[in-house]
Amino acid sequence: MGQKKLVILGGGESGVGTALLAKAKGLDLFLSDGGSLQPKYRQLLEQQGIPFEEGQHSEDQILGAGEVVKSPGIPDNAPLVSKLYQKGIPVVSEIEFASRYTSAKLIAITGSNGKTTTTLLTYHLLRSAGLSVGLAGNIGESFAKQVMDQPYEYYVLELSSFQLDNMYRFRANIAVLLNITPDHLDRYGYNFQSYVDAKFRIVQNQTSEDDFIYYAGSEPIRAELAKGALPARQWPIHLEDHPSQGGCLRNDTLKVTSHGQVFEQSLAELPLPGTHNAINAMAAILVAQSVGLTPDQIRDGLRSFQNAPHRLETIATFEGVRYVNDSKATNVDSVFYALGSFDQPLILIAGGVDKGNDYQQIAELVRTKVKGFIALGKDNTKLTRYFAPLVPQFFATDSIHEAVEKARSWSQAGDVVLLSPACASFDLFRNYEDRGEQFKTAVHRLIGT
Ligand code: ADP
Repeated sequence: MGQKKLVILGGGESGVGTALLAKAKGLDLFLSDGGSLQPKYRQLLEQQGIPFEEGQHSEDQILGAGEVVKSPGIPDNAPLVSKLYQKGIPVVSEIEFASRYTSAKLIAITGSNGKTTTTLLTYHLLRSAGLSVGLAGNIGESFAKQVMDQPYEYYVLELSSFQLDNMYRFRANIAVLLNITPDHLDRYGYNFQSYVDAKFRIVQNQTSEDDFIYYAGSEPIRAELAKGALPARQWPIHLEDHPSQGGCLRNDTLKVTSHGQVFEQSLAELPLPGTHNAINAMAAILVAQSVGLTPDQIRDGLRSFQNAPHRLETIATFEGVRYVNDSKATNVDSVFYALGSFDQPLILIAGGVDKGNDYQQIAELVRTKVKGFIALGKDNTKLTRYFAPLVPQFFATDSIHEAVEKARSWSQAGDVVLLSPACASFDLFRNYEDRGEQFKTAVHRLIGT
């Protein structure tokens, strides 16, 4: 009997990339997508003669698999996936699968917040210093496809908990843990520890003294590391002065010490605002030091970095009021840091699909910094109940145009209007990008630009 088939569930960027790599490696495979494929992906599969289906999942094909590569968008408790587990069929992620076919050094980055920023910054530092480096994971082009097309010496991988869920043998040479705060609990049976466990898969299989863990010191991460016995070297990032190796802040200067190097830069010179971004920058600098970048290379890279949109992105300043788009802030912790990034009076626009949020963490900041709160969602009941008593002015709407108009009517020169929603976007928008773009359009319409 021949090898059993590899089945790929989901025909997006990661699924199709996996299919192309598997085909190049001569595996017998089948791709199944419950929805419809984007034309460019359908064409690629057809060109390569890769068998696939769309609009359905044929169980006779799928349940006979030797292994399944599952898109991170398909939850573990989907009935089909449960059946795979019941039959003992291994289910892995694209990253797990593709990592078997590369000997590159893997730099893996996770956290509840800051993954994209830190991954992009790390990639930028390495690339602008001339290293051979790929960018993958939750971001950009499929890891599997890059492994097939272009063997880089390093990959910087942004890993979500959903990807980590299906990783077993993957080994990160460098693992970065930025923070773990409640998020996506709906996918983890409302059990925070299960979510922490998923994040900690990023350090599994690290074996030697050559592997590293860089982490910022939030409680769940420290508690988990304190359980002990992880072989990799662990260096912390602190938001205050600290004598140990790793990153720390001293008199508004960040100082990163590792691998016999010291790098210092004032916070004001960082390309990214807010203390949360100081953490992200220190993590990226630690990685840069571990792969041998000089302080000058790091400084040049920091200077030329531009972050992705929708993360504390200033859209316009009009009549002395600054409009900031932080649509990517889809949980409470990211709003906590966003609020902390401004000294000006704030008009905050927040709301959307609540993911079981506990607003306690931002209550005090809202009370002291927010002069007007605009709840933007289909159902604003929870926000109204919680925040209306805390702020001088409160308004609820399901229209982004109304939200922006109200913000303008409340604002005066020196204020900041901040969209930082703490919630998912799909009650009123396609995704967070769509929400951010519609916010920008509404602002530009309002100010006539
Ligand atoms: P992710 O990819 O993990 O969602 P992003 O870099 O896209 O992270 O940032 C998402 C949101 O979280 C943004 O609103 C940003 O301002 C905020 N944020 C970024 N870094 C951090 C951090 N280290 N801690 C808390 N919040 C952060």
